[in-house]
Amino acid sequence: MLGGEEFEIETEELPADRVAVPESFAEQANVTPGQLRRFTEEGVDAWEMAGDLLTWDRPYRTVFDAEACDWFPDGQLNASVNCLDRHLDERKNQRALVWEGQLGETRTDTYLELSRKVNAVAAGLRELGVEEGDVVTLHMPVIPELLVTMLACARIGAVHAVVYAGFSAEALATRMAESNSSYLVVSDGYYRRGDAVSLTNRAETVRAGLDQDVTTVVVDRLGDNHQYPLGADEHQYRRLLADHRGETVDPVPRDATDELFLIYTSGTTGEPKRVTHTTGGYLAHTAWTSHAVLDIEPSDTYLCTADLGWITGHSYIVYGPLALGTTVLLREGEADQPPRTKLWELIEKHAVDILYTSPTAIRTFMKWGEEYPEEYDLSSLRLLGTVGEPINPDVWQWLYEHVGGGECPVVDTWWQTETGGHLITTIPGVDEMQPGTAGPALPGIEATVVDETGAEVDPNTGGYLAIETPWPGMPRELSEETRWAETSGVLPDSEWAYMTGDGAVVDDEGYVTILGRVDDVINVSGRRYGTLELESVIVGVEGIAEAAVVSGYDGRDQGIYAYANPDTDAADELALREAIYQAVETQIGSFARPDRIVFTPELPKTSSGKIMRRLLSDIAHGNELGDTSALRNPEVVGEIESATQSD
Ligand code: ATP
Ligand code: MG
Repeated sequence: MLGGEEFEIETEELPADRVAVPESFAEQANVTPGQLRRFTEEGVDAWEMAGDLLTWDRPYRTVFDAEACDWFPDGQLNASVNCLDRHLDERKNQRALVWEGQLGETRTDTYLELSRKVNAVAAGLRELGVEEGDVVTLHMPVIPELLVTMLACARIGAVHAVVYAGFSAEALATRMAESNSSYLVVSDGYYRRGDAVSLTNRAETVRAGLDQDVTTVVVDRLGDNHQYPLGADEHQYRRLLADHRGETVDPVPRDATDELFLIYTSGTTGEPKRVTHTTGGYLAHTAWTSHAVLDIEPSDTYLCTADLGWITGHSYIVYGPLALGTTVLLREGEADQPPRTKLWELIEKHAVDILYTSPTAIRTFMKWGEEYPEEYDLSSLRLLGTVGEPINPDVWQWLYEHVGGGECPVVDTWWQTETGGHLITTIPGVDEMQPGTAGPALPGIEATVVDETGAEVDPNTGGYLAIETPWPGMPRELSEETRWAETSGVLPDSEWAYMTGDGAVVDDEGYVTILGRVDDVINVSGRRYGTLELESVIVGVEGIAEAAVVSGYDGRDQGIYAYANPDTDAADELALREAIYQAVETQIGSFARPDRIVFTPELPKTSSGKIMRRLLSDIAHGNELGDTSALRNPEVVGEIESATQSD
């Protein structure tokens, strides 16, 4: 797993200095140093606090069973009760969901309204034959119906499997085959940057490609733009809702270890991997981190710009925030899609308290310019968060100043589809921030950096990031396949370890800086480089919006290839090239000087918005390119190929 080669990363350039959390924030934070003392000093199990945030049908007696690697094993609960029913006494008329559609529509559901819809859809799914444990596949854009159906599945103990709407019919069929799913809830289409995209071929392709019969429910998203002719065993969502209006469905108590949903990783480094999350551990983990890290309160309006089809949407749009009873603002479409004022307009209009977004989106906002956020009143914001990729210190600063006005803490949350929720981040009411550095491991988590033999390295030395304690949001796969005993030996000094696939550095105080993917580490002339440091230097050059560094081969030599995306009003390429060489040489050293700098109008991105370096590396090696259909912007590939060749 660790590979045999030496893993050495240059780390002379230490990240920028720590920044204190503004006092006005710290005073009101959900979690303060005093509260954390409960488990640092009194020895209260860190994750008991998480379990205590939930409503259990049968209370758990054990937090963690190390033998079976199970969380809250004797507890029973229902996720929809935790996200809806338990809030009704206190806030049935509070808004649970505000949706802003691509065509400028706004739809609002109070907790009571949302709960009624979830009950009706749950009753409808039951009538169609869905039983506890069945896998229901959901394939829709970010519309309220998707969130409603997720919670309806949870209510009856069915396992939802959301497949991002941008995936092809074949990808959908493969996923349904893998999970043996006989139920599909699909929209007739979606809007991509304002244009209608039909999904009507989905059900047919799925049927043709699967052995099992499939019952389909069709959600109308395109309205008059599209008519979906219903075939046999196809049902209208609207009818389902109308036919079951007013019905209530008793929530099915689920064991904490029962599956809540299936989901796939982003596919940044290879084929997307399927992951199964549990009901109790996962929900406790997402609720606790929404409370402690995102600082969500019921009275807040909370906006997360992720797509519901990815783990961030599941954990930090649906389950964590709704478990806390807050108001969730849901936006259909990508964070950084035009018009350039949209996000800021929404924050002002809804007086958003918390914004959780991605470095990739912020880099686009920077490229567009600070004049857009400056036009709006963003003073309602209290906290900013990022996830998905390392955030370059310059990008962090921009967010802190131009969006947060220097008054909102920024939490740089490191986690993965596999972890279910945050593992490494500052707790804003407790820890100082460090731009470009995620922060310490959360209480109860041990994050270590090891070398290729599995031995822990000294502080400030690069290596492989390992998690050496199980955590409640861990997926079933890890619980089942990576039991304690079986993995001892992976790391000689620990009983259990999960290798994250990321490279990292830990400082003397335990702050973790993510260096990039282990797979993305560049090996040139026997020297290995993490991608983040070089990229941050290039992005720091005036006029460069985004950069990705990979190794390449020009037929004779291996070299460092830097792909850079200039601002629209940037200086000419010759000057930019010189500025990049200068910056790399002065900030890192001449050994890291890129052999090639290729300017591109855009970098290739996964559909969840991450830079896909493996594709750039294939281009830089002149390799055959695999399937590029899962890219957000497949149209840039040809351009990048010719720019690489002609450069
Ligand atoms: P795949 O596993 O299929 O290659 P993926 O790893 O991109 O795709 P996700 O689970 O969506 O799929 O992403 C998790 C990864 O995202 C982490 O392993 C890490 O590389 C990166 N990441 C997430 N948050 C951060 C962060 N705050 N700082 C640095 N990197 C981050
Ligand atoms: Mg991954």
